[in-house]
Amino acid sequence: MTPQGASAAAAKLALQALAAQPITIETEPPGPRAREMIARALPHMSPSLIHCYPLMVRRASGCMVEDVDGNVFLDAEAGVATASTGHCHPAIAAAIAEQAEVLIHICGTDFHYPGYGAICEKLAQLARGIGPNQHEWQTFLTNSGTEAVEAGLKLARNHTHRPNLVAFRGGFHGRTLGALSLTASKSKYRKGFGPLLPNVYHAEYGSADSVEELFATVTAPEDVAAIVVEPVLGEGGYIVPPPDFLPRLRALADRHGIMLVFDEVQTGMGRTGKMFAAEHSGVVPDILLLAKGIASGMPLGAMMAPREKMTWQPGSHGSTIGGNPVSIAAGMATIKLLEGGLCAHAARVGVALRASLKTALAGDTSVTDVRGVGLMIGVEFATPELADAVANLCFRRGLIVLECGKKAIRLSPPLILTEEQARVTADVFAAACRDVRI
Ligand code: PLP
Repeated sequence: MTPQGASAAAAKLALQALAAQPITIETEPPGPRAREMIARALPHMSPSLIHCYPLMVRRASGCMVEDVDGNVFLDAEAGVATASTGHCHPAIAAAIAEQAEVLIHICGTDFHYPGYGAICEKLAQLARGIGPNQHEWQTFLTNSGTEAVEAGLKLARNHTHRPNLVAFRGGFHGRTLGALSLTASKSKYRKGFGPLLPNVYHAEYGSADSVEELFATVTAPEDVAAIVVEPVLGEGGYIVPPPDFLPRLRALADRHGIMLVFDEVQTGMGRTGKMFAAEHSGVVPDILLLAKGIASGMPLGAMMAPREKMTWQPGSHGSTIGGNPVSIAAGMATIKLLEGGLCAHAARVGVALRASLKTALAGDTSVTDVRGVGLMIGVEFATPELADAVANLCFRRGLIVLECGKKAIRLSPPLILTEEQARVTADVFAAACRDVRI
């Protein structure tokens, strides 16, 4: 073996070993190297980036993340619910490497390559599992979630020839101007960017009555192109809506010829313990939007619709690198793992994690709710300050979580989380809730 080959093999072994390591805090994060590197990087980066923790990641494997000071964290957020198969899963890394050897880019809008059609066919087969009475699905591939939303909005307007859009307060749909016009989880995302798209109306999340109220008061349903909804509210608080919510939206959409759009950018691809969150209700949308977990962290998103609704014409939408071959290879490998048992595993471990959290947090008066589905779990606190302090203490103790909603913390670990790692997550989290001082 050449010296380069030997060092690559050693790095691979070390990475695999990282996945089996426990949480290890060598020096309270951020350590000296992280502080120095962050201080050097920040002046060159857009100040719009949030950086919720001073975490400088060196490498990551499975559910574990190592920073540049040698601290090892348990990742209970998976790069914002995206590293679904865990960090650097060997099958994903191999698929990426293999594809990168033969074709990295040619542009799916203008040319053909085998992966594009193959993943569209696969996604269509998966979408047929949502519920009955479905036709053939077609797919437009994007680079991101917000682009999938943009594509969905354009298709809905183009197909219905109607201008208005209904979304929900608390919803998050991305940050480009069209998607941002729907996003209503925090006003800071919108501040200073108006005017946004006109003709967007927000109803109360979880309430179909509130949509009917909009129809009665501010927009005639005949003017509405789409109702855009997250089947489980993500950034807005990890809230599972009442069981009649999605069926009633479906009925309203059917009655008025409106397209029902499920933004499954966060809930899709196994996150809720089923391939799509829509499967929990059996409600079939007219447009299905995916991104995040679809390619284990490679840039890929999808806007899907049944063939008879994908009526836009050649040239009406496209993307230069959306659906590039390398991302697709990662996507196909991700789907193979999901179908091979990862979805079912996520459902099982999700139940275990929620139960462990409920037990560990019982009697803690700072916590007002533990909720969720699959590995999409929200813990609500009495105040925003408490949520913030617990998230930060978790970080200092080696557990990475993210806040959501007004005063909640979300747990969205890689779907490969083991039951043992779920127990550790619950223990570290509950100890942080207990020990936090504000
Ligand atoms: N839609 C939902 C439901 C999301 O959660 C997100 C991102 O968090 C988006 C859209 C935007 O995705 P992206 O950040 O990939 O543009």
